Amino acid sequence: MTDYLRTLFLHPPSYQGFDGGAGSRYQARREVRSFWYPTWLAQPAALIPKSRLLDAPPAGLRLEDITPLARDYEMAVLHTSTPSFAGDLRVAEALKAANPRLMIGLVGAHVAVHREKALAASPAITFVCGNEFDFTIQEVAQGRPLEQVAGLSYRVNGSSARTPERRPLENMDALPFVVDVYHRDLVVEQYFIGYLLHPYVSLYTGRGCRSKCTFCLWPQTVGGQRYRTRSVEHVIEEIAQARRLFPQVREYFFDDDTFTDDLPRAEAIARGLGRLGVTWSCNAKANVPYSTLKVLKDNGLRLLLVGYESGSQEILNRVKKGIRLERARAFTREAKALGIKIHGTFIMGLPGETPETIEATIRFAQEIDPDTLQVSLAAPYPGTALYREALQQGWLAETDLVDADGVQAAVLDYPHLTRTEIFASVEAFYRRFYFRPRKLFVLASEMVRDPAIGRRRLKEGAEFLRFLARRRADSPAAPV
Ligand code: SF4
Repeated sequence: MTDYLRTLFLHPPSYQGFDGGAGSRYQARREVRSFWYPTWLAQPAALIPKSRLLDAPPAGLRLEDITPLARDYEMAVLHTSTPSFAGDLRVAEALKAANPRLMIGLVGAHVAVHREKALAASPAITFVCGNEFDFTIQEVAQGRPLEQVAGLSYRVNGSSARTPERRPLENMDALPFVVDVYHRDLVVEQYFIGYLLHPYVSLYTGRGCRSKCTFCLWPQTVGGQRYRTRSVEHVIEEIAQARRLFPQVREYFFDDDTFTDDLPRAEAIARGLGRLGVTWSCNAKANVPYSTLKVLKDNGLRLLLVGYESGSQEILNRVKKGIRLERARAFTREAKALGIKIHGTFIMGLPGETPETIEATIRFAQEIDPDTLQVSLAAPYPGTALYREALQQGWLAETDLVDADGVQAAVLDYPHLTRTEIFASVEAFYRRFYFRPRKLFVLASEMVRDPAIGRRRLKEGAEFLRFLARRRADSPAAPV
């Protein structure tokens, strides 16, 4: 049997409540405390016997809790993000100081985009991985010399060297189940998402998205713009395994960029889930036909997470969303008629945003009326077309995507719309959507019907109001 390096997979501690792990699309502290699973780290962890996955933010672990562990391992693999990168380097340096023989590798979209720059950022870093790193890490853990491992950059003679690119994985069933790693190393009760039942478990059934939205990080970096999928049988087998491991889990979430990119497959998975009798939810584009929605709903689908982004057709066209507002309206009507819950996500401050498009988007959201929603600020992550456009046009007023507490910052500033106005639009959006009598009545009715939801909503409601109050205090000054 192959000997493997003793390997620690780490989502480092950073801002308090920071949802920036290897599973979070917008790496930031949220309106209400929430954590996605570190699935991108769990995947290589599943390939390496006796490895350990440590997700510091949900576990409440601080640097001083992590550092002594360095002596127990031969390799540490840290998942990084653009907002947390400086802090992640400090963690890497502390681990290296505690164990100078420790190999330290960095993974994640941020470092994959600028491998050599990331490597040069600290002498504590041994290597940096490219986009898809599961088998790269496995080969390093098997003790292969770094120069023989495809898909990484490493340090040599005070400089850096790059090995040939690793081809994207085509046989997705070669990836072992992440739920076994979750069970071994994580506490599922520590993972919350406001609109999902608790406890929940999320995982991927495929990687990549066929759409080409200019702002979207993963398909332009780690996942790719094709939908590479696991077989239906492999997915159903993993959920069956998860049910054995986690009888307390109330909902499964498929975090594929767009689970509905392949409709026949989505229907086949749904039928398998229906036979298992689980409640589930997934990401979807606002163009799923009624016939498919019906099959999904009849087989346990509870909620769809839908990226509407904007109520302006011009903005949707400009960011290459590939959706018509009319189609999104019809989809939402049909999903709601079937009793499918919808969590809608919107972005303020995309290119082309004006006070008029902000107003149009708020009205659009009120009209289609998803059950819950999330409003984010446009975040130009390095590696995206939006980032390149922002640099070329001189829109990037700030390079830090989050503030000192890890909360999203407004960084794009347009000649006709300031980042102060964009920042303020988020609060206005939330207030005008949630503080409507009809909406408050529906939310209150749900709380009365289900006391567990009621208790959770009260807590989250208080967090949400504190978040809005804090945003008001932190509004960026208008640029001079
Ligand atoms: S459809 Fe969604 S996941 Fe796909 S590129 Fe657009 S925003 Fe990203």
